Amino acid sequence: MAFEPVRNVITIETRGCAASSRTRWVPGSFPPGDRRWQTAPVTDPFASARHHSFASRAPFAGVPGRPVDDLGDAGVVIVGAPFDWGTSHRPGARFGPRAIRAADYLSFDGARPHLPTGIDPLQVLRVVDAGDVDVVPGYVEDSLERIAAAVEAVARAGAVPVVLGGDHTVTFPNATGVARVHGFGDVALVHFDAHADTAPDQSGRLHGHSTPMRRLIESGAVPGHRFVQIGLRGYWPEPAVVEWMRGQGMRWYFMSEIEERGLRAVVDEAVALAAEGAAGVFVSVDIDVVDPGMAPGTGTPEPGGLTSRQLLDTVRRLGRELRVVGADVVEVSPPYDGPGEITAFLANRVVLELLNGMAERAVGV
Ligand code: MN
Ligand code: MN
Repeated sequence: MAFEPVRNVITIETRGCAASSRTRWVPGSFPPGDRRWQTAPVTDPFASARHHSFASRAPFAGVPGRPVDDLGDAGVVIVGAPFDWGTSHRPGARFGPRAIRAADYLSFDGARPHLPTGIDPLQVLRVVDAGDVDVVPGYVEDSLERIAAAVEAVARAGAVPVVLGGDHTVTFPNATGVARVHGFGDVALVHFDAHADTAPDQSGRLHGHSTPMRRLIESGAVPGHRFVQIGLRGYWPEPAVVEWMRGQGMRWYFMSEIEERGLRAVVDEAVALAAEGAAGVFVSVDIDVVDPGMAPGTGTPEPGGLTSRQLLDTVRRLGRELRVVGADVVEVSPPYDGPGEITAFLANRVVLELLNGMAERAVGV
């Protein structure tokens, strides 16, 4: 399918603006070339927190911090994508990576032995944290390029990127970065969401949290027949878009079908579909797949979703039964969370349960 970019509907006259903003010295600020303008060295994975107030300060579960260009023998790399300028309704997901990392009552000691198995996924998978991508607030495409580059670097180093969002726009660069390494068209995508995120455009533009799956299909990074969507419900998108999805060979499971057939039967089928002929699987979890009663801290809540227990069990199962080559947990919007930061706490455990499944697969239990 040919990629038809949506034309810009507004042209803003910017001639001369860039030069003057770069070279003009405002009295009272640092002069051009002053070292205080320079960004922190990339050897500190949490450097972006020095100029982005919303960026993360400390690594997930206290695992070692490593920059993406020096990952050592890491097997899994946590990456934050504090991006929410693709939201159509409630913003706030730029605070997601920091909230997900912070939402934990255990010691930040890099150890998380799983109670049922005794396996510590952080040790087995050699998990490190590369901090947050240095995004450009307000600038969608610059930010997405930087996210794709970071994710690609992780995959190229032979590790599995696990990205903390951010709104769902970031799955376009996340899955693209993984596909650049594992093969364009060869990676399957298991997508948990109340929404299909397959709109042709968002307000006339290519990128937003309602369009990432459309972009992945159109670019060829993830073809429609390698998509499995779980948890869709509600009143969006419109029938014409659903028709387009059908034409792409996408498979989806509505909450009503999950209710009727049972989650286990649906996931049996989803695992088989995702594994068929794929080089690996990217797991994308929009936290709004869970009922807003258990995950209120999100941008576009849709009643009637999975329970948190169901999501935790399912991601663990996917980690165990599929070759996961990338993952993200997105749409956690801390300003709407609470009481007790329950959405951020759930997202933290979604990451851990997925890692647990992957660790069980790695050690062969
Ligand atoms: Mn979504
Ligand atoms: Mn959603």
